Amino acid sequence: LLRLADESMYRAKRAQRDGTDPEMESLAADLGDAVRKDQLRVHYQPIATLPDGKIVGVEALVRWEHPERGTVPPLSFVPLAEESGAIRQIGAWVLEQACRQVAAWHGEGHRLHLAVNVSPRQLEPGLAERVFAVLDAAGLPYRDLIVEVTESVPVEDPVAVEQLRKLHERGVRIALDDFGTGYSTLRYLTALPVDILKIDRSFVAKLDGTPEGAAVAETVLRLSRMMHLETVAEGVESSGQAAELAGLGCVNAQGFHFARPMPAAAVSDLLAEQDPASV
Ligand code: C2E
Ligand code: MG
Ligand code: MG
Ligand code: MG
Repeated sequence: LLRLADESMYRAKRAQRDGTDPEMESLAADLGDAVRKDQLRVHYQPIATLPDGKIVGVEALVRWEHPERGTVPPLSFVPLAEESGAIRQIGAWVLEQACRQVAAWHGEGHRLHLAVNVSPRQLEPGLAERVFAVLDAAGLPYRDLIVEVTESVPVEDPVAVEQLRKLHERGVRIALDDFGTGYSTLRYLTALPVDILKIDRSFVAKLDGTPEGAAVAETVLRLSRMMHLETVAEGVESSGQAAELAGLGCVNAQGFHFARPMPAAAVSDLLAEQDPASV
């Protein structure tokens, strides 16, 4: 008991000193067991073509069903998992689940691509080989996997860059997520083997029918075309935004306007509606 009291006092003191939150620390401790205890779920958000809204892909987004706290969103635990290293195990689990699910949709005649978020901590030696093994086991073509990284990937880290290069060489596509929100955004374009730019939703939110509002989205689209990259607009919430993006030549989009992230079964329903003949 004394030790427990000591520990909680120590935690509170440390929280005071360096701004760590004891709540967060207990969440971080639970996170270590989340995979083993089967508390994680993968939701899928459809990625659609503009202007028709046909579903051509999905992004896998992890959720944590915490026994006491209910559903914990990734922004509340992915940073903790990155710090503790648990993201390696979580990331591997998400990849495996999602590859199997998308391969099952392929089997039903829905040729979708799969986008999976990968943290910098995962980009260590052996990652590319493990990804290939998961794709092989699921029977998913390499070309149908998109690895999404943010501008938090250290471009000066040769190990991280090498893993992305290996993936890219074998046909896995690399997307720069939240593009334009980092510090030296343009540097990533030449330092990493990039195939796709995802226009951050903060720039989509600025679309208001004026040239100023469209400036960043339009610039990213033009840059993509010049560099022969694909583009996906994120966070499309209205038909106005979808129409404006379509007018700017944007072909792929994702956002609540089309569909929210949802369990696999709900995506299956949407796919059956969209393409009944193929089932
Ligand atoms: P992200 O990769 O940029 O994913 C898109 C986020 O935007 C998702 O939040 C999605 O629900 C949200 N979103 C989609 N459409 C809209 C929209 O129209 N409006 C608004 N306001 N939001 C929209 P979510 O699922 O909470 O995920 C947040 C972030 O957590 C992700 O951002 C990603 O960085 C990270 N994350 C999620 N799953 C994983 C994972 O398995 N591994 C890693 N490393 N990170 C993950
Ligand atoms: Mg993403
Ligand atoms: Mg994003
Ligand atoms: Mg984001």
